[in-house]
Amino acid sequence: MFTDQPILRIPGPTPIPPSVRQAMSQPMIGHRTQETTELLTQVRPKLKPVFGTDQEVVILTGSGTAGLEAAVVNTVKPGEDVLVIVTGAFGDRFAKICDAYQINTQRFDVKWGEAVNPEDIAAYLKKNTSIKAVFATHCETSTGILNPIKELAKVVHDNSDALFIVDGVSSIGGVETKMDEWNIDLLVTGSQKALMLPPGLTFLAASDRAWKVMENNGNSRFYLNLQKYRDSQQKNAVPYTPALTLMFGLEEALKLIEEEDLQHIFNRHHLLRDMTRAAFKAHDIPLLTVDEFASPTVTAIRPTDFNPEELRKTIKSEFNLDVAGGQKQLKEKIFRIGHMGYCTPADILETVSMVEIGLRKIGKEIELGAGVRAAQEIYLK
Ligand SMILES: *Cc1c(COP(=O)(O)O)cnc(C)c1O
Repeated sequence: MFTDQPILRIPGPTPIPPSVRQAMSQPMIGHRTQETTELLTQVRPKLKPVFGTDQEVVILTGSGTAGLEAAVVNTVKPGEDVLVIVTGAFGDRFAKICDAYQINTQRFDVKWGEAVNPEDIAAYLKKNTSIKAVFATHCETSTGILNPIKELAKVVHDNSDALFIVDGVSSIGGVETKMDEWNIDLLVTGSQKALMLPPGLTFLAASDRAWKVMENNGNSRFYLNLQKYRDSQQKNAVPYTPALTLMFGLEEALKLIEEEDLQHIFNRHHLLRDMTRAAFKAHDIPLLTVDEFASPTVTAIRPTDFNPEELRKTIKSEFNLDVAGGQKQLKEKIFRIGHMGYCTPADILETVSMVEIGLRKIGKEIELGAGVRAAQEIYLK
């Protein structure tokens, strides 16, 4: 079959809209020219509502992990106490970055597949008063849960002076996030998830409080020094050569987001989540997470009577359909369907129907179409 028609339903990278692809084929420009000034003038105000902030959203070249590392190295110093809420592989990554900088990292581990309970964090902070920053993951991509960030922000500020730092890589642009209103101090995202771009850009926004801490932080850092980016961007300039090609795409992606309207985008992601979950429930195939904590951007399925790797291999070879496997302790135990960014209800119907064929092919007795029908019912509601 046509090998140029991959169907990418993993939680990042995600498919790129044709107009974004086209925007990225523009001729190169100089990064210290009027063209770059104009590009930044277009892009900067449009990024703010996506973060729910009036603050500058700085753009760095690097994957999401570079953004996480920037969040750590700009805010805390070696030997300082931080709390990292670990609900899966990405919380674990935040903790490992802190460890790498000799920060005194205290982990709050939550069972994978569950969201953290804000009351537990309140209790922890009451007992441990030296915590300088609390790190959390909004959507934990490895399990498909959404942590209650708004409530967490409140308990962090009610019970400590710590900065509240959030990994929003797989949520920003797909899940409502009100950085200023909720009092998030530092919010990070990446380009290749709900923002409908290729990998390679990371974005960060900080509260006034966080900027003050960063300005007075004597930690060594150079490329990841966020003040450099802020100070340049506020003059519609860049400190170093940015990934201009990706920024051409960003300008177009932000246009698409504005045209669709953020509220509509958030509702669409809820619909995609509900359609996906209904499909597997109809087949009595267990989901890893309960409805209450389910992320609108990715769904993890934990089968009991078939091998998810066998299913993944089958749908890949039959349809060139990619879904993700499990990470670390969930390796070979789950599979994950990404439904963020450039993804529509039609894509979910297509995906479910292909997965049903895959299930039959690996010998699971299911009623063909039952999952599709359940998803259709959700759509019609
Ligand atoms: C994808 C992702 C990242 C970033 O990973 P990179 O591979 O460095 O882009 C970070 N956090 C979460 C929650 C993610 O989903």
